[in-house]
Amino acid sequence: MTDFTMKTDADGVAIITWDTVGKSMNVMNEQGFFDLEKLVDEALADDAVKGIIITSGKEGTFAGGMDLNIIARMKEMAGDEPAQGLFDGLMQMHGILRKIERAGMDPKTNKGGKPIAAALPGTALGIGLEIPLSCHRIFAADNPKAKIGLPEIMVGIFPGMGGTTRLVRKMGAMAASPLLLEGKLNDPKKAKMAGVVDEVVAPEELIAKAKEWILSEPKFVKPWDEKGYKMPGGAPYHPAGFMTYVGASAMVNGKTQGAFPAAKALLSAAYEGALVPFDTAIKIEARWFTNVLMNPSSSAMIRSLFINKEALEKGANRPDVADERVKKVGVLGAGMMGAGITLVSAMAGMEVVLIDQKQEAADKGKSYTADYMDKGIKRGKATEAKKEATLGQITATTDYAALAGCDLIIEAVFEDPGVKAKVTKKVLEHVGDDCIFATNTSTLPITELAKASDKQNQFIGIHFFSPVEKMMLVEIIKGKETGPRAVAKALDYVRQIRKTPIVVNDARFFYCNRCIIPYINEGIRMVAEGVAPALIDNAARQLGFPVGPLQLVDETSIDLGAKIARATRAAMGEDYQDGAVDEVIFWMEEQGRLGRKSNAGFFDYDEKGKRQGYWEGLAEQYPQANEQPDLITVQHRLMFAQVLEAVRALEEGVLEDIREGDVGAILAWGFAPWSGGPFSWLDIIGTPYAAERCDQLAETFGLRFATPALLRDMGDKNQSFYKRFAAPAERAA
Ligand code: NAD
Repeated sequence: MTDFTMKTDADGVAIITWDTVGKSMNVMNEQGFFDLEKLVDEALADDAVKGIIITSGKEGTFAGGMDLNIIARMKEMAGDEPAQGLFDGLMQMHGILRKIERAGMDPKTNKGGKPIAAALPGTALGIGLEIPLSCHRIFAADNPKAKIGLPEIMVGIFPGMGGTTRLVRKMGAMAASPLLLEGKLNDPKKAKMAGVVDEVVAPEELIAKAKEWILSEPKFVKPWDEKGYKMPGGAPYHPAGFMTYVGASAMVNGKTQGAFPAAKALLSAAYEGALVPFDTAIKIEARWFTNVLMNPSSSAMIRSLFINKEALEKGANRPDVADERVKKVGVLGAGMMGAGITLVSAMAGMEVVLIDQKQEAADKGKSYTADYMDKGIKRGKATEAKKEATLGQITATTDYAALAGCDLIIEAVFEDPGVKAKVTKKVLEHVGDDCIFATNTSTLPITELAKASDKQNQFIGIHFFSPVEKMMLVEIIKGKETGPRAVAKALDYVRQIRKTPIVVNDARFFYCNRCIIPYINEGIRMVAEGVAPALIDNAARQLGFPVGPLQLVDETSIDLGAKIARATRAAMGEDYQDGAVDEVIFWMEEQGRLGRKSNAGFFDYDEKGKRQGYWEGLAEQYPQANEQPDLITVQHRLMFAQVLEAVRALEEGVLEDIREGDVGAILAWGFAPWSGGPFSWLDIIGTPYAAERCDQLAETFGLRFATPALLRDMGDKNQSFYKRFAAPAERAA
């Protein structure tokens, strides 16, 4: 069976239908291209065929893109000279698309040939748009749910199947830049307004309209294949075009801090391609695409952000337990977290009971959902009816009896073991025997909190990040006694609210906070040593972190840091090593510089809360050293502070799966996404070098950088994490 089939109707229009076998949405694989080529060849050679329509056999969608598993493997499949192999493979595929575009025309006169239309019933992403862009006219069904665009940049590559070259030539660099550089997706109407598709038609008329166009004997030579073609908005040496490229270059470097190879390569392909004829531009695009695929960053990003993220969302680590989807959830505590948890649960269609000590507090928590929906209505993303329906699912009350019938409870009351134990006991008086109880604690051990329950196997941690509706990761924590049904319930719930789960074992700060805290602490420690704050934060941003450690602590608040420090110090006693950090934190707290919330922290803020420069008082207390460390040293301190915690978490069995360690790090705290996560980063730099570098850092800066035994062993054997800790299925294969 092949994914492409063709039928020619009585009017001589050949309809090629794409219908990937065994998938709900079309994806392109190695064979698909050749099957498509064969049919295009047949249709072009057949005198009875007047023109071709390429469409989809899937209702409401055209294609989701290239099978990214294949992209990830392309390098391995490319043989002894992977760069040459990749380039040749890419050029072969380009040849097929170019054949569609030239459609049998005479190369010199542009005479002859057959018009080819793309008819998109709905979503068309990545290669699913690059194929239509090689056609002569794109018809899209008026399907408001459809998304049309080139999202490649989001997973560390760029549109490398002609999408970059054709879009820039079709609409100009300026108009193409949000689509290429930000991966912006549009519905069909907006895609038409932007100039990506040519016509939007009623879904039932899609094929008829495309056919009508083909039979109208249209002119179909692409503008760039005609003499005198001028690029919309101007080519790079045109004054307007010049401004576009200079601006785009500055914008890309400002946004990415040069940390993402794909963004730079994309810009180079677009700029260099704009200076030369089309066929040369395609070669340039293929060379840059090869360059990006050869960079270990692209495989690591695809692996973490696409393949493994999806595997975790689909329940890669779900115990073999029957369906545990949640119908009625009880949320305890209507503060910041409880309000957010209520919102995402109600939006996912669950019935929610939101409880607080006072009715006003519970109502306030519920109003968070109302405000959120109002904003959605303003932006045209929600309707009054949807708002009413969502609010109708939420009962805000102080009455625990309303919890009857809940199959999941999520507790988000004050971070106090006594308060938490009290509410746990009270809840258990009102819910059924099989109700799962989850706590959203960020610091308290799950195993200890579980002791308030007489069913510890039904007690679990479901740790959200703030703000709940924005943050995509949820960390699920198993206490010592947590049973498989509780894990399945938590995973099914996270799937319902469409977030990404990781499942870890109980230990101080679980996984995410365990890694984030040393990152922040290393930044603060450097302040105490006299390192310039701007150097610290910029070093992190140039590694691809969304914010530097000092800015991060301002956002999360200094007093929270001080509170955690006091609690950790009390719990760890003599083993505690962060005295130098605490000195700065406690002093900042004394000065009332609590971060953004007090409009004063490591940064100054104006009265509107806008961040200004670093606070001068900091330099008075901690004078900047005359000699500043080099950038790489600062970056390595910040990276290894986190990465070594991840390795220790794996060593200690807190993490059971490195995929979770990598995906969790990127989604929870924006760990250098280009690297694919802490374990991928170690694989990129190589474990022998990582172990050696830790030895140097430990000698200069202290034992917190001491090489963990696992890393030492792997370094000695020159092993990579993804080989040694492959997912169970891969190990078995
Ligand atoms: P918050 O102070 O905003 O809200 C706590 C709410 O719990 C308040 O509305 C309070 O009235 C209510 N409450 C207290 N005792 C109660 C009781 N006995 N019965 C019913 N309601 C009661 O706190 P928050 O920031 O929403 O945090 C809640 C929990 O989530 C904490 O355990 C915290 O560690 C955890 N958490 C917080 C964050 C964060 O970024 N704020 C992130 C992850 C986890």
